[in-house]
Amino acid sequence: LTRLYGPLTALSNVRVDVMSALVSFDRVFEVLDLRPGIEEKPGAAAIPHGAGRLEFRDVHFRYPSADEVSLATLEDVSALDRTENAPVLRGVDFTVEPGQMVALVGPSGAGKSTTSMLVSRVYDATEGSVLVGGVDVRDATLDSLRDTIGVVTQDSHLFHETIAENLRYARPGATDEQMWEALRGAQVADLVRSLPDGLDTVVGERGYRFSGGEKQRIAIARLLLKQPSIVILDEATAHLDSESEAAVQRALAAALTGRTALVIAHRLSTVREADLILVLDDGRIVERGRHPDLVAAGGLYAELYRTQFADSTPLTPDVEPVILP
Ligand code: ADP
Ligand code: MG
Repeated sequence: LTRLYGPLTALSNVRVDVMSALVSFDRVFEVLDLRPGIEEKPGAAAIPHGAGRLEFRDVHFRYPSADEVSLATLEDVSALDRTENAPVLRGVDFTVEPGQMVALVGPSGAGKSTTSMLVSRVYDATEGSVLVGGVDVRDATLDSLRDTIGVVTQDSHLFHETIAENLRYARPGATDEQMWEALRGAQVADLVRSLPDGLDTVVGERGYRFSGGEKQRIAIARLLLKQPSIVILDEATAHLDSESEAAVQRALAAALTGRTALVIAHRLSTVREADLILVLDDGRIVERGRHPDLVAAGGLYAELYRTQFADSTPLTPDVEPVILP
């Protein structure tokens, strides 16, 4: 538990600022790995080290209404609807086998981000269960859950501290050499080296301001330092310049190698490579399979393929490609 309380104690002042500034927990989670204030069950079980299987068993979820949440620190609590919220996930069931990469796709509002948040216990399922390495996440020790899961979101958060301090949230005792190695893997070492204070450069409003793509690569460096066996990734839709984007893609390839990955995918190149694609619509998985089969099926996936994926060339639906003999 020292690994839990160490960083949290060091952070307690920062955390209050962050907590009051954010409506959602996911960015805080990304740095701290588990929602601050979450409690461990007495007699909780450790997820086996290196566990790679992720299972959703008939998961239902609705967001807690304002009276149910104890978000006293959040100013925006009054903005939440006081009536019971509608179900967001309605029987989500799937397994990601160790080492597999599964892509989660679907229209905006389908429940993709919500699904990813149930793995990291930003929220817990209303019904059904989420298992990591065979252990229900609600019964798992927080240390073992934190060690097993790594999260990279589109909107990576860095604290107003040095780069080294930001990296050490992932591995408190990390040496400079380990940090440089992670920065190299994340394609951001040259940039950090070019800063006058290197690893001791303070980032944020009154320090060095990273671009979106650079911040994302720092988040990937954290992941490489931490070496989680399961990675949850919300792929960027934000327009990175193409050089930055290529660097982020290379960094992600390094981060995902040999790990189980659940990727909220916005890129055709990702879904094409996925071992399994899950198509989520209005809280249900409506299609599952691999890219060619789902395109051939002509359903929602085929529609998303034409309209949504960031790196796909939109096809004109009523013009068939001419195939010469
Ligand atoms: P996606 O990531 O697929 O776009 P989300 O998981 O973000 O979808 O959202 C699914 C549904 O849950 C949407 O209808 C959204 O409005 C609702 N929702 C998201 N966050 C909250 C929240 N904190 N409170 C209540 N409803 C929410
Ligand atoms: Mg989302």
